[in-house]
Amino acid sequence: MKSDRILPLPGPLPVEGGTLFLWVRRGLPLALAVLALVGSALHGAGRGWWMLAGVAALAAAWPSFLRGEAFLRKRTAIMRQDCLWANALRPLARWFGREDTWILSFCGHNNRRVREAFGPRRARRALILLPHCIQMARCKAGILDDLQTCYDCGLCSVGDYLNAVLLNRWEGRISNRSHKAYREAREYHPDLIVAVSCTDRLLKGLTRMPEIPSYVIPLSLPHGMCVDTDFSMPHLLAAMEALVEPHRPSGEIQPLRREGIA
Ligand code: SF4
Repeated sequence: MKSDRILPLPGPLPVEGGTLFLWVRRGLPLALAVLALVGSALHGAGRGWWMLAGVAALAAAWPSFLRGEAFLRKRTAIMRQDCLWANALRPLARWFGREDTWILSFCGHNNRRVREAFGPRRARRALILLPHCIQMARCKAGILDDLQTCYDCGLCSVGDYLNAVLLNRWEGRISNRSHKAYREAREYHPDLIVAVSCTDRLLKGLTRMPEIPSYVIPLSLPHGMCVDTDFSMPHLLAAMEALVEPHRPSGEIQPLRREGIA
């Protein structure tokens, strides 16, 4: 019988970034609106066109002000527009060597809004999405088909995740293909997704599923892309605790743990 292992505790939710994205997303249209106002004052003959441009710029900036319930009600349209900005300016960020910073800033902006929306009224039906690359590459446990085939050997974060799922009765999927994860997420109809992935896939996921609010957590890649990746389990625990209604049964429950090695 294995001795009990101390499982990670939820940390505080980190301060989300997002200021860079918000400055660009809100600042550019507002600057254009001011420019249009000045143009209409200086160029009387084309005033109508200037005014039209100003109104369009204000309309583009408006969704960036929506928060809480207003964000949830219009989330598909808001996320579509935000993703358009994030994807359109990505090549420029890459050119400056700041691609990850830009995507993480977008993710941080998204997380802020999701936290504001689900802070007062937590999600009832949440789904966790994790990438298969968190499993140690040489491990033969068939966790894609059945998470409980993991031996919880402690060599990767899947064991901690398995324990957390069993203790808290979370619903989660580990996928090796993005399209499979999207399909499973849509079939489950969650009111919130908590997704862990690399920055590229996080942006892709937010772009492909604008209709489902998603709190996203970036992977760390100590061995490069897609191999033995890792993530902060305390961050995931904190996100689930802060944003999702608990389903954990009362009383002390220890998950059944199997003997074995990876
Ligand atoms: S058996 Fe060990 S290496 Fe394999 S998935 Fe579980 S914790 Fe990771």
